[in-house]
Amino acid sequence: HYYLQQIDSTRHLNAFVEVFTEEAIARAQELDQTRAHAGISGKLHGVVIGIKDVISYKGHSLSAASRILGGFTAIYTATAVERLLLEGAIIIGRQNCDEFAMGSSNENSAYGPVLNALDNERVPGGSSGGSAVAVQAGLCMLALGSDTGGSVRQPADFCGIIGLKPSYGRISRYGLIAYASSFDQIGIFGSSVDDVALALETMAGADDYDSTASPAPIPLATAVEGEDTARYKFAYFKESIDHPGLDPEIKAAFLDFAKKLTDAGHQVQAVDFELLDYVVPTYYILTTAEASSNLSRYDGVKFGYRSKQEAEDLTAFYKQNRSEGFGKEVKRRIMLGTFVLSSGYYDAYFTKAQQVRQLLTQKTQEVFNCFDAIISPTVPSPAFRLGEMSNDPIEMFLADIYTVFANLVGIPGISLPLFKHTSGMPFGMQVMTSQMNEVPLLRLSKRLI
Ligand code: GLN
Repeated sequence: HYYLQQIDSTRHLNAFVEVFTEEAIARAQELDQTRAHAGISGKLHGVVIGIKDVISYKGHSLSAASRILGGFTAIYTATAVERLLLEGAIIIGRQNCDEFAMGSSNENSAYGPVLNALDNERVPGGSSGGSAVAVQAGLCMLALGSDTGGSVRQPADFCGIIGLKPSYGRISRYGLIAYASSFDQIGIFGSSVDDVALALETMAGADDYDSTASPAPIPLATAVEGEDTARYKFAYFKESIDHPGLDPEIKAAFLDFAKKLTDAGHQVQAVDFELLDYVVPTYYILTTAEASSNLSRYDGVKFGYRSKQEAEDLTAFYKQNRSEGFGKEVKRRIMLGTFVLSSGYYDAYFTKAQQVRQLLTQKTQEVFNCFDAIISPTVPSPAFRLGEMSNDPIEMFLADIYTVFANLVGIPGISLPLFKHTSGMPFGMQVMTSQMNEVPLLRLSKRLI
């Protein structure tokens, strides 16, 4: 009831696209009864969780904030959600996001933009903006987002909360609408590291429905607890701190924090990373290529939006449905992706980008041979004003410079809310560890926060 009231009094933020009011109350009552009568309670008994509108929950609408999925109802539940439910969670509603998770500001949604709760004229970040704001404004305890290139860490940074993107394959993608399948990962928003750790433990692990879900041992929340006196070795990329797009205040706060870490007995070292300028182009070539293929299924034949206009032939029918159903940013990406995959350009763009991805993975491995973690700012600037960037897609893409790296190489990354900008907005620091090393990542996070 408390959370439902909170949601009701903050409708203007546009964080939720649907609230499961009656269902959530019934579920809470049922959980109360099971505990009272059978003495059973799960790890997440009564924990109120919201889910980004790209995650399936059987019997509930699912739209990816797109017109093209208007009227669609999920026919199965995502493995991640299924596991939360098994442990007693209450799913309170579907959260607003950028259409098909494409964006960094939550302005590309068929439901309209989400507002940052700290300053309603500013964006919450994206694409999981609704989920971030829901945790920021206390509308639920935890929220699930998806992170293909920063969509959990970047809005967490803009909203002043914690956002974790686990390793690729850590959480099953079954039931997550695909944007770029070799990058996508379900992520978690929370206000404490322990909460995030518990949600991760609950959702992680192999899944018969997703062959990329890793059978590696599950990161246990208890392993994150306890005293930690270790001295860590941190690396940061020199080029990322010298980057001209980095806000000077963020740079100063980062370097100051690095100094504090050294004073506390840790090692912090700048390492060369000449590939930084290639990270964003590589990401946008590969993800748009994958998206153009993944989104070809939305043609209006079996499900979703169908144009009211009479079509002359099948091609015209597809064209009408897709032209009317998809928003501008999604169309831009489908066209970009189709272009880089087309014969004549395939080798120049797609193959090249795959080679760069390989190189990045090798280089990252070398860094982790010598260091426990890589640190960086999460985003080069704090939350901007609504509309400020909408006419400049390239500028918007460049804001992903620090986050896309972790998705390109499959490692876990977390944004920790550590700083405040003179604009009044919070900003965070990103920490990344090597693949499947979420336990050290979360332990470290507890030390830093
Ligand atoms: N901003 C990035 C993009 O638009 C990241 C999106 C995401 O992680 N889903 O692709």
